[in-house]
Amino acid sequence: MRVELLCTGDELVTGLITDTNSPWFEARLFELGVKVERVQLVGDVRPDITHALLEAAQRADVVLVSGGLGPTADDFTLECAAAALGVPLVEDARVVEWLQARYRNRSVPLTPSALRMARVPQGAEVVRNPAGSAPMVVLRLGRCRLFFVPGVPREYRALAEGEVLPRIRALLEAEPGRVYRAFRLLRTVGIPESQLDARVAPLSPLHPQVVFGFRTHAPENHVKLMASASSQAAADAALAAAEAACRELLGNSLFGVDDEAYPQALARLLTEAGATLATAESCSGGLIAQQLTEVPGASAFFIGGVVSYSEKMKMAWAGVPSEVLARHTAVSRQTAEAMAEGIRASCGTTYGLSVTGYAGPTGGTAEDPVGTVYCALAQEGHPTRCERFSLSGDRERVRLFAASSALELLRQ
Ligand code: ATP
Ligand code: MG
Repeated sequence: MRVELLCTGDELVTGLITDTNSPWFEARLFELGVKVERVQLVGDVRPDITHALLEAAQRADVVLVSGGLGPTADDFTLECAAAALGVPLVEDARVVEWLQARYRNRSVPLTPSALRMARVPQGAEVVRNPAGSAPMVVLRLGRCRLFFVPGVPREYRALAEGEVLPRIRALLEAEPGRVYRAFRLLRTVGIPESQLDARVAPLSPLHPQVVFGFRTHAPENHVKLMASASSQAAADAALAAAEAACRELLGNSLFGVDDEAYPQALARLLTEAGATLATAESCSGGLIAQQLTEVPGASAFFIGGVVSYSEKMKMAWAGVPSEVLARHTAVSRQTAEAMAEGIRASCGTTYGLSVTGYAGPTGGTAEDPVGTVYCALAQEGHPTRCERFSLSGDRERVRLFAASSALELLRQ
């Protein structure tokens, strides 16, 4: 199946906004095993839109067109569609009813310009918009199906998800020699991307029905598996075999699959264990707290944290004894351990987690240069664990990996 996307609007070709609709749709469509063939951005110029519609309809089986369905003077995509088909625009009584109901509910008068949204190419199918006013419009041009949806991302996604993708799925199911797919995203931390690739690559010839892809989303590295087969059961089985082989290779570096991002995986771990956590962060400046509080319901396990950046704060709020700082530096194993123990004791949590390090670009010592980070985990009734990391990259990267290195102590 050949699918093309056409996005209209001057704002897309004058640098005012970036097309975020297409990447979203491409990813959703790829889950059905279909790659978008072409994406076009066209400004608000009638002949250009008409021309682009005609050309796309000649090449593709499905064209998803977005933008220019609204009530304003620069919304004329359906006029162009009517011109491309050689049919007039006609008022659709059902759309008029939908608009009347929507405007009445919001106590807004239905103006003649708003009624323009009810004018669709003759013979078009209309679909009610669950998230806005302008309806979705479906047309046939030769063998091509053209779907017109509003450009506003919320409306675009609602209609693409609820109407366009199910129709594409149905078309795929009707295709002879259909290929079935199954997907899995394996999420890892702690293995650099190059090593991940080298480690997993030998699996590829052993699993010929599976495509292995790699992607970095710091601090995570992902392995994406896509299995293809002539039945769904066969695709699922091929995927399961490849996933099992990856799991064996990746061990504990694999923290989650599919939508479960790193903070969610940690939250699950802590919640399942009924554990609580408090943090004392220096060079990571609160990144750990920020990541953990991204998870809804984080209060079940995360008590809170301090950003103890200065020595004064390390003593006053993280409970680091002044002797430790006098005898060792603020970036040292001893300080990290004292921070973790201090915050755990004052908060009464299962765990106390700390980070201290040199994020750069300047600073550091001969023994502990920029990029050196100490992370410690204190646990009630257990000896405190501390690890030293030598991180590379700029300040932002060191801080990001300092936070994830510390969090990794919780998973080990
Ligand atoms: P409206 O009823 O709001 O006028 P419309 O279908 O006419 O809807 P446009 O006028 O083309 O859509 O776009 C409305 C707004 O939606 C744009 O100003 C822009 O903020 C956003 N938008 C449009 N197209 C895209 C796109 N491809 N990616 C991201 N945002 C978009
Ligand atoms: Mg508009």
